[in-house]
Amino acid sequence: MADARSERFTRQVLALLGVVSGVVLFVVVVGEQLGLLERLTAWVPRPIGVAIVLIAGYPVFRKVLRAALRRRIIAHTLMTLGVASALAIGQWATAAVVVLFMRVGDSVERFTTDRARRAVRDLTAMAPRTARVVRGGIESEVPVGEVRVGETVVVRPGEQIPVDGEVIDGQATVDQAAITGESMPVEAGPGSVVFAATLARLGSLRVRASRIGRDTTFGRVVRLVEQAEAHRADVQRVVDRFSAYYLPVVAGIAALTLLVRRDPLATAAVLVVACSCSLALATPVALLASIGAGAKRGVLIKGGRHLEALARADVLLIDKTGTLTLGRPRVTDVIPLDGASARDVLRAATSCERYSEHPLAEAVREAARERGIVPAEPEHFEALPGLGVRARVQGHAIAVGSRRMIPGAPSIAAADALARQGKTLLFVARDGSPIGIVAAADAVRPEVPAALDAARALGVRHIELLTGDNEPTAAALAARLGIPYRANLLPEDKIAAVRAYQGSGRTVVMVGDGVNDAPALAQADVGIAMGAAGSDVAIEAAHVALMRDDWTLVPEVFAIARRTMRVIRANIALTALYNLLGLSLAAMGLLPPIFAAAAQSLPDLGILGNSSRLLRPAGGISGR
Ligand code: ADP
Ligand code: MG
Repeated sequence: MADARSERFTRQVLALLGVVSGVVLFVVVVGEQLGLLERLTAWVPRPIGVAIVLIAGYPVFRKVLRAALRRRIIAHTLMTLGVASALAIGQWATAAVVVLFMRVGDSVERFTTDRARRAVRDLTAMAPRTARVVRGGIESEVPVGEVRVGETVVVRPGEQIPVDGEVIDGQATVDQAAITGESMPVEAGPGSVVFAATLARLGSLRVRASRIGRDTTFGRVVRLVEQAEAHRADVQRVVDRFSAYYLPVVAGIAALTLLVRRDPLATAAVLVVACSCSLALATPVALLASIGAGAKRGVLIKGGRHLEALARADVLLIDKTGTLTLGRPRVTDVIPLDGASARDVLRAATSCERYSEHPLAEAVREAARERGIVPAEPEHFEALPGLGVRARVQGHAIAVGSRRMIPGAPSIAAADALARQGKTLLFVARDGSPIGIVAAADAVRPEVPAALDAARALGVRHIELLTGDNEPTAAALAARLGIPYRANLLPEDKIAAVRAYQGSGRTVVMVGDGVNDAPALAQADVGIAMGAAGSDVAIEAAHVALMRDDWTLVPEVFAIARRTMRVIRANIALTALYNLLGLSLAAMGLLPPIFAAAAQSLPDLGILGNSSRLLRPAGGISGR
C-alpha cells in the first residue's frame, strides 16, 4: 500500500515537472517565433535536443514500434508520427513539446483511472485475513483459508466476520457496507445470515461457516469486479480499431498538404495536431469511473457495455415475488376443503415444503410452526419452478402450488376474494384431489411506486409485471402500481416475454431476484438482480447486481448509465470538433507546429476532467 502511494507520488511529481518544462519550452519557442526572445533553443546543439526527445519519448516509441512490428496501430502511433515529422523539419523543440505533453497526458490518464480503480481496490483490501476458529472447545486464530465449512468461528466486537455463515449464538449490530454499500448497520442474532468482510460493531457472535474464501458473496463480488476490469480490454480494442481508421485519414491529409501546398511545416503541424489521443480516452475512462462509483454504493455493474444498453433501454420488466414484494410472505388464511381440517392442510403443506427454498415455502413452514404443527419427513421431494412442489409424505402424494399445478383446483368465492386483495393462493392436493387453499400476503416494497416514477422520468416507456402467480393476485398488484401484467408465467414464459420485446427492437431491462427468473435475467439486455448479497444465481445470471434490497437503486442505475453515456458523447463530440478545427487550420498553414503541439494536449485534460465527474454519485430518486 505504502509502495503504491509513494509510486503515485513520484508519478505526480514527474508529471508536474513535465508540465513545467513543457510550458517553459513552449514559452521560449513561442517567444522566439514572435521575435521577443533571442534564439534560445539555438544555444542547445541540435543532437542534444534530438537526444532529449528520444530519451523522454522512449517508453512510448518502444510501445508503438512493438505494435507496428505486429502490424498494429495504437493510439500513440499518430503521436510518434507527429514527433518524427517535427524532427524531420528540424524543430526539435516542437517534438519535445509533443513528447512532454504526451507523457503528461499518460500520467494524468493513469492518475484518473487509478482513482476510478481505487474504489474497486479498496474493496479487495477489505477481504478478511484471519479467523478465530473453535476447535475442540479451544479458540485459535488461523489464516482464513484454513477454516472449513461447518466449523464455528468467533467474532468479537469491532472484528470483521471472516466467513459467510449462520449465527448460532450471540447478538451484534453488523455493518454490511462492504457488501451492500449501506452504512446503516443491521441487527444479527441466532439464525441470521452474515457475510464475510462485514463488521461486527457492538456485541460478539458465534458463526457456523457455510462458505469461505472465494465462495463467499464477498469473494464473488471481487471476482466480478475483476471481470468488469477485464472488459476494459474490449473498449481498448474499439479504440485501437478507431485509430486504424483515423490514422490513414490524417496521413492522407498530411500527404495532400505536402503535395499540394509543398509546405513541410504545415504538414508537420497536421500530424502533430491530429495526434491527440483524446478520442482514445473518451470512452474507457468514463466507463471505468462509473463502474468504480457504482461498486462503492452496492451497485455491481459487470461491464461497460451494460451501461450502454441501460442508457437506451425503454422496456422494464419486473418479477413479482421477492422483487416487487418484500419476499417475506405470511400465511393469512387457510381454507380447508372436502372435510379436511385446517391443521391437516397445513401439516401436509409444511411437510411437502420442508426443503423448498421458495419464500412461499418459508411462509407455510412459519404458519405451521406457530400452530405447533411438526412436519413429517418428505420423500421424492421435487420442486417445479414457477409452479410449486410435490413429494410423498407418509404414503400420500402431496402437491402444493399454483392453480396450474393442481388439476381440478376449485374456484371458491372466499379464496377468489382473497386473491383480489393481492394475496397469493397455494392449492394443496393429497393423492390428486384438492384438500385446501392457503393464502399468503406479501407487502409491496414501499419505495417501489416512487422508483417506477423515477424510471419513467428517465425515459423508460413501458413497465410491466411478470409473475408466476395467479391472475387475480397479479391484477390486484398491477392495478395498485398502475402497470400492465402477465400472470401464470413459467420461467420459460418469462424468457419468451423478454424475447418478444427484443424481437420488436426494444431494449429490455429485467429486474428479478434470481428465484425462478434467473434465465430471464440472463436473456434480458440488462438483467438487474435485487438483493444479490448471498444469492449465487442472482449474481451469476444478472448483468447488474444490487447488493441490497433497495428499489431506489433501480432508477439510480438508469441515471448512472444515462449520465455516463452523456459524458462519453460530449467527450467524443468535443474532441472530434476540436480535431477537425485543428486539422483544417494546420493544413492551411495557419497553425505553427509548436502551437499544434500545445493544442493537441488540451482536449485530453478536458476529457479526463469531464469523466472524473462520474466518480461522484448520481442522484437516484432523492439523490441519497
Ligand atoms: P414470481 O414470478 O411472482 O416471482 P415464482 O415464479 O417464484 O413467482 O412462483 C410462481 C408461483 O408458483 C407462485 O405464486 C406459487 O403459486 C407457485 N410456487 C412456486 N414455488 C412454490 C413453492 N415452493 N410452494 C408453493 N408454491 C410455489
Ligand atoms: Mg421471483
